[in-house]
Amino acid sequence: MGLMLLLFDIDGTLLLRASEPHRSALLDALASVYGLADAPIHRVAAAGRTDTQIARAIALACGLDRESFDALLSDFRAACAEAFARSCPPSLAAYVAPGIRELLDAVANQANTHLSLLTGNYEPVARLKLARAEIAEYFAAGQGAFGSDAELRDDLGPIARARAGRDGIPYPRERTTVIGDTPLDIACARADGLRVIAIATGPHPADELVSADQVVADAYELRALLKSW
Ligand SMILES: [Mg+2]
Repeated sequence: MGLMLLLFDIDGTLLLRASEPHRSALLDALASVYGLADAPIHRVAAAGRTDTQIARAIALACGLDRESFDALLSDFRAACAEAFARSCPPSLAAYVAPGIRELLDAVANQANTHLSLLTGNYEPVARLKLARAEIAEYFAAGQGAFGSDAELRDDLGPIARARAGRDGIPYPRERTTVIGDTPLDIACARADGLRVIAIATGPHPADELVSADQVVADAYELRALLKSW
């Protein structure tokens, strides 16, 4: 196979069980921007969703209307990034999924593969997470697609491919693979006609991910699979 673009999800894929500081940043920003205290974040499904989607679901559940939410959305995004910078621990290195570091090392040394991101996290949140996890070096600035680029994950594939393209031509679909841990990762790949590998390290066991092209148990299996391509 020729050049390949790999679009990695973050939570449940690159990092495991590291979502608490992010959750508290979302709550902080909902309180400071919209005045929503004690928002019922635990009742809103977060995995696979973008930060704006999660925040909107919480805000609506608190009785805020769509127009009021949209009116302050850019303030909310900025407040969330600032709150995350305060709540994020100095190191997230212990939360890197087992085998991911070795996988990134191996793939980064393969001349025919580009590493990139496709995540529902706002970009500043995503970049800080990766920096604190000491894996930021694998993911170039200006590349990837984030929750700050679109509210719906389904819209992120084309954005990531556009950024990875050259001379205004998006990176080709047939050489792009999404790697993520939820049915929404699979759906976003399908929405853009992309191949998808599901990894069962997040909240979904393998049998809930069978609509992916391939399902792997963990990063070790993923590494073996990518090596076999
Ligand atoms: Mg995920």
